[in-house]
Amino acid sequence: MQAHPSEPLSTLVIAAALQVPERFAISLLDSCESSSTLLLERAQHGAACGSVVVCERQTAGRGRRGRSWLSAPGDSLTFSLLWRFPAGMPPPMGLSLAVGVAAAHALEDMGAAGVSLKWPNDILADGAKLGGILVETVSTGGRHVAVIGIGLNIRLPRDIADAVDTEAGALASVMPYAPSRNLLLANLLNGLATLLDEFAHTGFAGFAAAWQARNAHAGLGVRILAEGTAPLEGRCAGVDDDGALLLETAAGMRRIVSGEVSLRKS
Ligand code: ATP
Repeated sequence: MQAHPSEPLSTLVIAAALQVPERFAISLLDSCESSSTLLLERAQHGAACGSVVVCERQTAGRGRRGRSWLSAPGDSLTFSLLWRFPAGMPPPMGLSLAVGVAAAHALEDMGAAGVSLKWPNDILADGAKLGGILVETVSTGGRHVAVIGIGLNIRLPRDIADAVDTEAGALASVMPYAPSRNLLLANLLNGLATLLDEFAHTGFAGFAAAWQARNAHAGLGVRILAEGTAPLEGRCAGVDDDGALLLETAAGMRRIVSGEVSLRKS
């Protein structure tokens, strides 16, 4: 992998590549604890749909269930997007999977090869985890508000590779060149806006086929791990219309909802 510095993040460069710039309000920060934590706070204070926090240096980046998301200035892209769904819409089940589809599209459009998705929230390429998605939702005044956090490894510093307990990867390894982070962020936001508009009408059902087409474990033996219970073994039979994992077990088909479980290859 070629080592060269990333271009600095720039709201002007990002805005120039947005299809509808007025849909987004981008805050570019040098440092924060977590872009999602900050945006959740801003959501409580009325931040608009389309608010984006992109942060060069996260000091306490978060994954699911209190886990950490590690990033390195210049080598990562970490940002969060706030989205307000229309009044009366049911809870946005399966949103983190649908966001994975939008992210995969954006990466593929920029030339990334071998992108796949691991239920419920990981972005892989060639089996290595190069990105994570964290969707957190709150409900105010009958409307669901989502804060969608995405972390991507552009390059993978050795200390991050050594610190994580999964096989980590980086975009620079699956693209002809390490992508421009400004362009990548704009492409992701363009794709997310389109997806989120559609999601409000179709829910995850509208994206289930696209997700299955990128399912890293389709048809494979997998193990579902949950704290305090024995692992559940089965064959990954895809996902339901609400994003639940379908696990074919010796005792029949089981639906696994994402909350507190992790999937591993058997
Ligand atoms: P799992 O895939 O085990 O279900 P999770 O969904 O509970 O994980 P995530 O929210 O995907 O967790 O992200 C946190 C986990 O991702 C960490 O525990 C660590 O193993 C891994 N991780 C953290 N930073 C990175 C990174 N930059 N690249 C790849 N993996 C990372």
